[in-house]
This record gives sequence, C-alpha cells and structure tokens, in this order.
Amino acid sequence: MESDFDVIVAGGGVCGLIAAKEIASSNLRVSVLEENFEIGIPERCAGLISVKALTSLGLFPSRKIVNNEIKRALVYSPLGSKVEINATKQKIVVLNRREFDREIARIAEKYGAFIDLGQKVLNVDDKDKLVRVKTAKYERKAKILVDARGLSSLRSKHGFLQAAQYDIQGSWFEKDRVEVYLDNKVSPGFFKWLIPLNEDIARLGVAGYRINPYEILDEFIKNRKAKVIKKVASPIFVGGALKNFVHGKIVCVGDAAGQTKPTTGGGIFTGGVGALLAGKAISRSLINDDPLALRDYEAEWKRIFGKEFMIMKQARKIYERIDNERIEEIIKKLSCSNILNELSDKADFDYHSIGISQILTIIRDYPSLALDFIKLGLSTLFNLFKS
Ligand SMILES: Cc1cc2nc3c(=O)[nH]c(=O)nc-3n(C[C@H](O)[C@H](O)[C@H](O)COP(=O)(O)OP(=O)(O)OC[C@H]3O[C@@H](n4cnc5c(N)ncnc54)[C@H](O)[C@@H]3O)c2cc1C
Repeated sequence: MESDFDVIVAGGGVCGLIAAKEIASSNLRVSVLEENFEIGIPERCAGLISVKALTSLGLFPSRKIVNNEIKRALVYSPLGSKVEINATKQKIVVLNRREFDREIARIAEKYGAFIDLGQKVLNVDDKDKLVRVKTAKYERKAKILVDARGLSSLRSKHGFLQAAQYDIQGSWFEKDRVEVYLDNKVSPGFFKWLIPLNEDIARLGVAGYRINPYEILDEFIKNRKAKVIKKVASPIFVGGALKNFVHGKIVCVGDAAGQTKPTTGGGIFTGGVGALLAGKAISRSLINDDPLALRDYEAEWKRIFGKEFMIMKQARKIYERIDNERIEEIIKKLSCSNILNELSDKADFDYHSIGISQILTIIRDYPSLALDFIKLGLSTLFNLFKS
C-alpha cells in the first residue's frame, strides 16, 4: 500500500503550519488539511507574544505581522486599586494573527507543503500500517498524522473557560499599555483584558468559568465610549498539557495537545515550540525509519516546559480559590513594594514561574496573608520551586 503523503497535518492554524513547515523543510511530502477556506480566519486570539518567543519560532517582528508594541501593563484589583508594571524589558508585541498565520503558511508552501483549504477532517483511521484520513471530498493515506485541530480535538474534561473578545474603537486607553482586570466574582479563574492595536482600536476580552462573556463585555463598555467592530467567542484552555502527545502514528501539537499556559491560556509560544519539536522528531523518524524518534518530541517539550507548567497549574489552583479581598490586598501590597521593580526587571513573559516566585515573596513577607495562603496550597507551590 502506497502513501499519498509522508505526513498529513490536520488543522492549518499556527501549530499545524509550523509543524508542516518543519517537515517540508526536510524534503518530506506534507499535506495540510484546513477546514476553513482561508488561513488565519476567523481570528480568535489576542495575539500577545514576546519578540524572544517569536524569533525562537523562526519569525521576525516585521510590520506585516505586528500590529503594536506593548511597554506597560496596568493591573486592576476588583475594588479598583491598580498597579502598573513596566514591561519594556520583556519586549512584547501584538500580532496580526491573520497575517502571522499566513506568513507561516507561505514559508511552509515555499518548502513544498501542500495546503488544502476547505477540507474538514471527518475521520482518522490508524489501524493499518498507514493512517487513512477522510474528508468530504477524498481519502488520503500517510505514514504519520499530525493532529493540530486545536481545542476541538483535545480530549480533556477539565480546564476549559468560556471566553469572548471584542475589537473596539475608543479613545480612553493608551496605545502602549495593556490593561488587566482581576475579579474572581465577575470572571472566576481568569480576568478581563484590554490590548490596544493602535491609538484607537483595542481587543477587549474576558474569560472565566461558567460565565456569559458577552454580558460581561457589554457591561464593561456600557459606561465607556466604545464602538464594537467585531465579536468572537472561543474557549480558552488552562488545564495543562496531555500526558502523552504521541499515540502510535498520531502526533498531537499545540492546543490539541493542551500546550497552552495554565495561567493565561497563551499558546502561540508553548504550542509553537511543540510543533517545531514535533516536526523535527517526525522528520528524523521518517528519514531514519525509526518510530522511536517520535518520543524525543515529548521528552524535549517536557524538559523545557514540564516543571514550568506544574508551577503555573498550582499557581492557578491558588488563584481560583482566593477571594476578591485577598486579590485586593496583594495588589495594594504590590503597589508599594520594591517587588514591582523586580517584576519589571526580571519577569519573563514566556516563563511565568519567575513572576510567580516574585509575587510569592510578598505573600511570604506578610504572615497573616501567608497563613491564609497555606490553606490554599502555598506549600505545594513552594515545594515545586525547590524540586
Ligand atoms: C480569546 C483568545 C485569546 C488568546 N490570546 C492569546 C495570546 O494573546 N497569546 C497567545 O500566545 N495565545 C493566545 N491564545 C491562544 C492561542 O490562540 C492558541 O494557543 C493558538 O492559536 C493555538 O494554535 P493551534 O494551531 O494549536 O490551534 P488553532 O489556532 O485553534 O488552529 C486549529 C486549526 O484547525 C482547524 N480545524 C479544526 N478542526 C478541523 C478539522 N476537523 N479538519 C480540518 N481543520 C480543522 C481550525 O479551523 C484551525 O484553523 C488565545 C486564545 C483565545 C481563544
């Protein structure tokens, strides 16, 4: 039985395209099947990424793919206290996700990947030597299938938050400053965010457990002058990565593997690195006829992000259990502490454990607060840092 392709990638989002680019660059035959008729549409992302992360994925912050640069973050407590963090050192940009995805698609095609749009994968059969992939139009066979279908194919019972995002036009935000609104009553387990694309357009979003995100966003803009240009709704996953990314001839990458940060649900960097590593391991496996090489992908991703994800998950557990009064207290203490300068100086946008450990020092310095947090799982978090 002959294969039609060496690898079929199901899903032409950022991670599927990065994996395809990587595999095609080794002269292997790759096909990407994307259910939508255009790459990068619909745009369901806030697009925040560090320049460091972008370059590690092999892309540069060109004008075409970058909408804006962020220099500051203003964090609001539930009662309106606020703290501003200088984020200049972190070099954060806001991506134009449509152009970003299209740029990766162009590179993948340049290497020889074949991208077929409007092809929804309806069935995958991996019982034989080759994987059979069915769409409404045809059936294709490949040696390996990369599952990059995003959250739609992630098998997890927990960790999904309801989320929505508006593109709004207004004049009350600042171009270089993101805003974060913490409130465990309004958006349990998450927050509202405002990310400017330029002087007068911003992405305003909210996520949380069991919320009606549209109601919350409508309430937020009610008393502010804002014209809604676009609305999207899409879940965010914060439940942690799958135990295994490789199942025989099927390799999961990106959101389909749960590779989104358990703190913020950001997945361009962590999933993109997953796709890069998967692409390299698949190429090695096929070129050397060594199925075991696929395991390198899992091992390497966990070496980079394993502990990081455990710390983020435990920090999330604590955040989900604290009430608004405690959030208020931490923001107030943070605003008059020198940790703020340290956060600006050392916090890493891609590895949140650094910022988490800095915030922990505030809790540790206030015995009454620390005592409260011990009940919420503080010791486990400290132990993770030590391990
Ligand atoms: C509101 C929101 C804001 C976010 N903000 C950020 C942020 O600021 N920074 C950040 O790093 N991350 C952010 N994320 C997360 C980020 O968008 C994802 O982690 C990232 O896009 C994952 O890429 P992916 O390729 O794994 O999946 P997706 O981008 O979901 O791509 C999956 C692709 O598969 C296709 N597909 C699905 N099913 C099939 C099928 N059966 N057949 C064929 N094709 C199929 C889909 O059409 C899609 O194109 C945000 C997410 C949301 C929802």
